[in-house]
Amino acid sequence: MLYKEYSKTLADKYGEKVYKLPVNLDVTCPNRDGTVGLGGCAYCGSCGAGYESLSNALSAKEQLKLNMEYIGPKYNAKKFIAYFQNFSNTYMPPEDFRAAVMQARMENIVGIDVSTRPDCIAPEYLDILKETGLDICIELGLQTVNYRTLQSINRGHSLAEFIDAVLLVKSYGFEVCAHVILDFPQDDMDDVIECAKILSALKINTVKLHSLYIVKGTQFEKMYDDGSLKLLSAENYVERCTAFLRHLSPDISIARIIGRAPEKDTRIANFGMSWWKIKDMILEKMEAENIRQGDMCNYLGGSAVRKFL
Ligand code: SF4
Repeated sequence: MLYKEYSKTLADKYGEKVYKLPVNLDVTCPNRDGTVGLGGCAYCGSCGAGYESLSNALSAKEQLKLNMEYIGPKYNAKKFIAYFQNFSNTYMPPEDFRAAVMQARMENIVGIDVSTRPDCIAPEYLDILKETGLDICIELGLQTVNYRTLQSINRGHSLAEFIDAVLLVKSYGFEVCAHVILDFPQDDMDDVIECAKILSALKINTVKLHSLYIVKGTQFEKMYDDGSLKLLSAENYVERCTAFLRHLSPDISIARIIGRAPEKDTRIANFGMSWWKIKDMILEKMEAENIRQGDMCNYLGGSAVRKFL
């Protein structure tokens, strides 16, 4: 096993394959509406990272039912996770959040994934999720642990808010999935490795890795066009990805080692190559150089006193 695959982790946990059903709520993001910032993160498109969803004119229950009717027979799937995917899904009054997530209590739905920002986590929302009685995973955008890069991309939070949110979510016994963009040109390899170390120390459950896309209409598109943003190469991504995996705890599942971007709203994604080609490059490098997830994860648990123990 080169790395711990999330789909296998899910299959082991539930005894069969489990599929995610996207839910698109009518929400926005505090980094877009002026509460934290305006215009959003420098790379964020207007659909807030949700691409495969149904219209939010449908209720959560209707979307789940339709998606289940489509995905169930197609993949012979019997167990599902309701995935509240777009924008920041806890950015609403708790009573609205309750009304939305309670609709996921349906037959064959075993869990709820909620995608949100680290500064949109509070006990009131987690209490509601606990009430659903389902398995819960909170997906948090971190993107990078370099707080200067976080500032420069207008994330509207620093590393501290991410750590605060993770500790709170973990105190409820819920899982955490962290989203990371590995190839910000503002970051270097030390940032990438430190990111793997911090996620390992925090005992994050799952990681989704992405390359940096240029989405139409974003700040990064302007910077790309005026030459102030230079993208790294696919080879750089592969280098960073394998270094990240080596330093990441082998207990953490990898849901993606490269993202899949839609062509419609994206100027440049995955270096103009298909995602599976980059995935192949990563796997080939790992095979050729005998690299495994966690083979350099030797820094936790008192590494300097290990020789005495
Ligand atoms: S926090 Fe997420 S939804 Fe909000 S602007 Fe950033 S990437 Fe977009």
